[in-house]
Amino acid sequence: MPAERRPAIVAVDDEPAVLAAVARDLRRGFGERYRILRADSGAKALELLTELRTRGDQVALLIADQRMPGMPGTEYLVQARTIVPDAKRVLLTAYADTEAAIAAINEVALDYYLLKPWDPPEEQLFPIVEDLVTTWEAGAALEAGGVRVIGHRFSKDSHDLRDFLARNRVPARWLDVERDGEARELLQVAGVAADRLPVALLEDGSVLERPTILELAERLGVAGQPAQDHYDLVIVGGGPAGLAAAVYGASEGLRTVMVEREAPGGQAGQSSRIENYLGFPAGLTGSDLARRATDQARRLGAELLTVQDVVGLRIEGAGRFVELSGGGTLSANCVLVASGVSYRQLDTPGFPELTGAGIYYGAAVTEARSCSDQHVVVIGGANSAGQAAVYFAQYADHVTVLVRGGGLERSMSHYLIERIGGLANVDVLTGTQAIAAEGEDGHLKRLRVRGPDGEQELDADACFVFIGASPRTDWLDGIVARDERGFILAGPDVRDDGWPLKRDPYLLETSVPGVFVAGDVRARSIKRVASAVGEGSMAVSLVHQYLVDG
Ligand SMILES: Cc1cc2nc3c(=O)[nH]c(=O)nc-3n(C[C@H](O)[C@H](O)[C@H](O)COP(=O)(O)OP(=O)(O)OC[C@H]3O[C@@H](n4cnc5c(N)ncnc54)[C@H](O)[C@@H]3O)c2cc1C
Repeated sequence: MPAERRPAIVAVDDEPAVLAAVARDLRRGFGERYRILRADSGAKALELLTELRTRGDQVALLIADQRMPGMPGTEYLVQARTIVPDAKRVLLTAYADTEAAIAAINEVALDYYLLKPWDPPEEQLFPIVEDLVTTWEAGAALEAGGVRVIGHRFSKDSHDLRDFLARNRVPARWLDVERDGEARELLQVAGVAADRLPVALLEDGSVLERPTILELAERLGVAGQPAQDHYDLVIVGGGPAGLAAAVYGASEGLRTVMVEREAPGGQAGQSSRIENYLGFPAGLTGSDLARRATDQARRLGAELLTVQDVVGLRIEGAGRFVELSGGGTLSANCVLVASGVSYRQLDTPGFPELTGAGIYYGAAVTEARSCSDQHVVVIGGANSAGQAAVYFAQYADHVTVLVRGGGLERSMSHYLIERIGGLANVDVLTGTQAIAAEGEDGHLKRLRVRGPDGEQELDADACFVFIGASPRTDWLDGIVARDERGFILAGPDVRDDGWPLKRDPYLLETSVPGVFVAGDVRARSIKRVASAVGEGSMAVSLVHQYLVDG
């Protein structure tokens, strides 16, 4: 990369010896890919960042010492965040400052705190910085965009295309035909009529008018084709449970393929920040978790087929056959159903018509940046709604959370209730539900809500709905035993439900021997990322047992 185009890493420390040491080590580890810039005070570093931003230079990482007279590291990082919000943030601390660093995780949205001294850098500095800049690079590449999508901001088809590209980590740039002059010029050059939107312009010059997701996925080579005739393990669903099973299955030498309907990551992939997953004290975004797990599964040799829907399961003697929506079939010794749950939709008047045009199910992270200066309403009282409120509060002018129950305590984790309580631009209306959504020019304009004080109207630019979820397991009807809500029974729950063998079913085995279940779709499962990951990995050892002992 030409020297002047390299993104920057900015280090700040008032102690000349420490600053020189950190700059020297960073240069040795990352000098070829990044410019290593330094400043000897927070104030000078802020000036430098403003200068870099004015020139349009990218900043990947900020490293700041906590103990600096004048401006402590945390204060500098809070201000720096407003100048370069996407840069990763690291605090350099002495052992005695660990408490301050942990407290700063929320205040600064700190990505890491690094203890001084960091010797040897090969172990204590390089892997951490490498991980952070790789994550930053993944985000920067996505924004830079090879594919350009042009459409109307409030069209459901445009939203679905953007969401698909973002969740599959395809670098893409979004152009709003109403606001962006470049969009209109490009359409004219490509000869696309205004009623043929959305349109995707690919890097090879091809123009896809109103493409379906599958068409786009195939053209971009995202979908993948099965490489084998027969697998030891077919995994249905690429959420945390499926991804964990793919990682463990492949690493233990099983021929493993994972089939995912939309994009790897599942519900977790839509989380704006998972703060309770073990080992990530600063939290991590769902898309980051999905990216890491997908890379890990692929590296270990698992095959991933995405944008393919499993529509049927056939049992023929010891053979298990998984049928795909495109007409293909995968043959396997074992199947793991890890298909999770999907959002329930509101059938309140106005909601179905305005879905994708101001009303969204799930966090719709792609929409967040367009929410600046707007009033966002979040419906729901569980953790997913709480996370969304905290996340949108960073972008929106104001966020209102509508909760049907009398409070949040029974449905939301304590840490999220506290975070929401500390945000000046978020208010929570309890005992309140939406009774209608109304639009103008095809876009959401206001909600009518009913609460303890009667009915009122709320102007709303966007509304994100999180009202629980249910499994979509109809394709297993008559084959695998399920409870009355469609969750799949396993282990002790199927022993008396037509179980055909003398031995007891394994813990995560369904009513069909050799067909296992893990994660949210399992009856009585705990709905958490960690438990889904735990069950996905556990299922692989049960698959082994089945393959050896039957
Ligand atoms: C916004 C949000 C925030 C959350 N935050 C947290 C948190 O902070 N901490 C926490 O512990 N938990 C959190 N959760 C819950 C957590 O994400 C889930 O418990 C977890 O993702 C369950 O994993 P899973 O693999 O069982 O299912 P899912 O994540 O639901 O994944 C299932 C996958 O299967 C695919 N699929 C379904 N049917 C088919 C089919 N027929 N063919 C092919 N593919 C199919 C789906 O597209 C999906 O990708 C959150 C959930 C949401 C929605």
